[in-house]
Amino acid sequence: MESKKTLPGTPITGAEWENEVYSFRKHSVQLRYAWDAGSAVSGFLEGLKEGRILGRRCNRCMRVLVPPRAFCERCFRSTDEWVEVKDTGKINTYSVSYVNNDASRRDKPLIVAVIEIDGASPGMGFLHVLGEVEPSKVHVDMKVKAVWKPRDERVGAITDIKYFKPLEV
Ligand SMILES: [Zn+2]
Repeated sequence: MESKKTLPGTPITGAEWENEVYSFRKHSVQLRYAWDAGSAVSGFLEGLKEGRILGRRCNRCMRVLVPPRAFCERCFRSTDEWVEVKDTGKINTYSVSYVNNDASRRDKPLIVAVIEIDGASPGMGFLHVLGEVEPSKVHVDMKVKAVWKPRDERVGAITDIKYFKPLEV
């Protein structure tokens, strides 16, 4: 006899489920909420809409924070000014994904990478996707450049950058 580990509770059989022995109710939940990006990230998103990547500089440690933050956690003080950085950078780390968000298989892999942005302090950057490159060609420290959506399609979101493509040929 097969030994089966059972969890606490009363299991429902397939027949019981199909015959709707147990009642169930569908209920849609109305959740209302407001979310504010804050001054630093709002400025960052506005910059993206204009095709610019913006950071915040702390004039004490002279670091340029990208994505920008209103507060320098190293100096325990507010950051001082906006700095436009380049839309190029290098790959800090990356991952090649063959599955979608719903765990279904992708025909073409998605390459996700952390990009360190040129002009920002070392280690500063953000997660994005790569394009115009085969997964086998991607490597850490590879130089990449942002490929922007056309101006009239930008909405002030990180997806205003379609992807980053290699600068190397
Ligand atoms: Zn600082």
